[in-house]
Parts: sequence; C-alpha cells; structure tokens
Amino acid sequence: MGRLVILGGGESGVGTALLGKEKGYDVFVSDKGIIKETYKQVLIHNEIEWEDEKHSEDKILIADIIMKSPGIPDEAPLVKQIHGKGILVVSEIEFASKFTNATIVGITGSNGKTTTASLAYHIIKQELNVGLAGNIGDSFAKQVLEKDFENYVLEISSFQLDDIVNFKPHIAVITNITPDHLDRYDYQFEKYIASKFRIAMNQTKEDYLIYDADDKVIENHLKNNPVQSTLLPFSLTKNIENGACLEDNKIKIAINNNQIIMPTTNLTLEGKHNIKNAMAASTVSHLLRIRKQTIRESLENFQGVEHRLEQVLKINKVQYINDSKATNVNATYYALESMDSPTVWIVGGEDKGNDYEELFPFVNEKVKAIICLGVDNEKLMRTFEGMVDIIVETQFMSEAVKIAYKITEAGDSVLLSPACASFDLFQNYEDRGRQFKNAVRNL
Ligand code: ADP
Repeated sequence: MGRLVILGGGESGVGTALLGKEKGYDVFVSDKGIIKETYKQVLIHNEIEWEDEKHSEDKILIADIIMKSPGIPDEAPLVKQIHGKGILVVSEIEFASKFTNATIVGITGSNGKTTTASLAYHIIKQELNVGLAGNIGDSFAKQVLEKDFENYVLEISSFQLDDIVNFKPHIAVITNITPDHLDRYDYQFEKYIASKFRIAMNQTKEDYLIYDADDKVIENHLKNNPVQSTLLPFSLTKNIENGACLEDNKIKIAINNNQIIMPTTNLTLEGKHNIKNAMAASTVSHLLRIRKQTIRESLENFQGVEHRLEQVLKINKVQYINDSKATNVNATYYALESMDSPTVWIVGGEDKGNDYEELFPFVNEKVKAIICLGVDNEKLMRTFEGMVDIIVETQFMSEAVKIAYKITEAGDSVLLSPACASFDLFQNYEDRGRQFKNAVRNL
C-alpha cells in the first residue's frame, strides 16, 4: 500500500496509524511534542514505528501519503517541504472515509458543531447503528477499524476540511460562519468561509447541505458560489418550504411535504441558537428516516453538552451557568441573548482581537455586574466601564465566583461565558469550566 506517515500522535493520529497498519501500509508516526504514554503503549503493542520530540525528515519525506493532525498549520516549515515535494497530505476524515461504506453526516460551522453533532447522534442512535466522531470522542479512523458503524455523525473543523480530497458527506451541515481562527487563514475571512464550504465540494444532488439561511455570510457565499448539493436551509425568520422554519412558535421540518411539527417550548436546550441546532439535527434525522415521535422525544430529553450553557446549580435561588466553551464573541452573544434574569457575567481570557460592540444591547438590558477574569483585563474594563453598576477584575476563578455570590440576589443568574480563549489562566476551556463548577459547589 505504500508508506503512510502520520504527523501528530494524538487521538486522530494514533487511530489513523491503527487503521493504516491494518490496511497494509508501512506506518510511521512522528510528533514534535511528547506523545501521551497511553498512546505510546498502543503504538508499541501494535508494532507501529514512532518518534516524539522531533520530526526526522529522512523518515518523513519518503512518504507516499501523509496524514497531518489538524493542529499543525500549513505554514510549518516541515509541511511546506512536504508540499514542495508533492506528497499527498490528507486529514483523518479523508483517510478513514475511504475504508467505510457508512452513511456520513458531516457537521461544520463556527459555533454549534458539538451541540448539533451530539444532538443528531442522540436522536439517530435511538433507531440506527451510528458512531459519533471527528473532533469529538474516539477517533473516526479507530471506529472505522473496530466498530464499522453503518452511520457516522462527524464534527468537522475547517482544518480537517482543508486536507480533504474526495471526502463527501451524504448529509452536510454548516451551522453558521463568523470570523474565527483567522490566524490560520492569512487573516482573510473569505479563505475561512471557503474552507467551511469544502464540506460540500464533492457533493452531488443526491447529497444534502443543511445550513442557516439567516446567516448572511452563508447566503452570500452560496449565491456567488453555487453548490451541486440539494439545499435544505433552516431559518428562525423566513418561511422555508424544504428545510426547517418556525410556524406559530413551532418548529416545522418539511422535506418533500413530509412534515414534523414540534413546539419550541418542549426543547430541553435553551436559547435561540439551540432552536437552530435542534432544527439542523432534526432535519438530519428526518433525512435518515428516524420516526417523528422519536425525534420529538429525543429533543425533549437531550441533556445538553458539558460547558455549553450548562446549568450547574441553584444556590439561594440564583442559577449558576457554565458556558466555558464560548471562546468567541458570537457564542457569548447567544448565551447573553438566552438569559432571562438579571445576570452577573464572568468574561475574559485571551482576547482574539474581539469586537464586543454587538454585545452592548444585551449588556445594557440584562447584565447587572461584570467580573473580568483574565491575566490582562484592561480592554474589557475599558470597554464596559460605565455600562454596569459593578465591574471588577480578578485572576482567580474561586474569587470570581465568590464575588458573584456576594452581589447576587434571589432570581439572578451567574453566567460564565468568557468570549475569549482560556489559555492565559487555564489548560483549556474544559479546565476553566470544571474550575467554575468546583468553585460553585464549594460556595
Ligand atoms: P463548537 O463545537 O462549534 O465550538 P459548541 O456546540 O461547542 O460549538 O458551542 C460552543 C459555544 O457556542 C457554546 O458556548 C454555545 O453557547 C454557542 N453556540 C452553540 N450553538 C450555537 C449556534 N448555533 N450559534 C451561535 N452560537 C452557538
């Protein structure tokens, strides 16, 4: 089969190594960082050659095909060298999808990928044999090797899409497109948009593209760059014949006059954005012929995903909410929009060139106090000063939560929705969310 070199010895790299080995490739895994001990043991046990803390060019540049972890940018000198030599570079989804005949649902977008993918999986698994993979859970390649499900729901980042060649989901979803990760796209929003749309580039009219028709970026791109796919838009504002929309405060999903209707009040997930996520996930499920009753019931009992508007505890009639995954302004926009009580807002972290202006109306209307939590809070303090009665800063989660506790009264909410990356004070957003929840439980 030839030589398969894998750059990055994480979940997707090791999964791909196992699948490649099984399919007869001569596999080599190389990681510039340290490979986790558990992954090393897997590689050793399966007699797969590997190295870490270096990239040996003599062993890499002789590859026939290279699987690059999505974390490694194209600008890395080694990757440039690889491209220069004309070696085929693919992502895990490209490589692994060659070895399965399963029906594939691919979900991308700037926000809402994990929620929509988890919700679609939750509905589909009630009736079909399905795996959940991509940026979530066990590696896709490993699942193709070990489980070989008949259906997969894949959460797919733009970085994964950058390295596809023939990959084609039968059903694609683009939840929305707002500026994010622009550092990887030469600071050109157009390039990032084009990357997201690669999810549909191999689709034909037998395949479906489900997307947010209220998103002007998506609408404009589609107008100027039509795709082959059958389009199924969803919208909160427009009337949609084929796709999903609201009718008398009910969600209506219609595909060729076959309809599902359900009241939005029955959804367990709160917020307008989650109505959109529910529309997308239900449209996917309807296409896969999941029974209407199953779709309705699943939407009514879905428990949500950790760190996404997660209801933590109610203490003295104050609700504490963990939205640590809100690492950009758009995600926080929807979090603030969904609040229906006076809110103490914990915000801050590593700023990605944020423009907070779109949040001003919600801050004026709903936020009674702001607690800035980051190494450098200067911009936040400056931006929101005078807009709320109380604005303070700290570098400690426990202190942020204690301050929130002191200034709230019955009926208020405390929302951690940082709008920023977490790496200044925390290992990652999960660590930030867990520290928040621990601090709340210790009150
Ligand atoms: P992703 O996997 O794309 O990062 P998640 O489902 O993990 O998205 O949600 C990330 C954050 O974005 C959450 O904090 C949530 O409040 C917000 N969010 C979820 N769905 C949407 C959506 N459809 N539009 C905008 N923001 C959303």
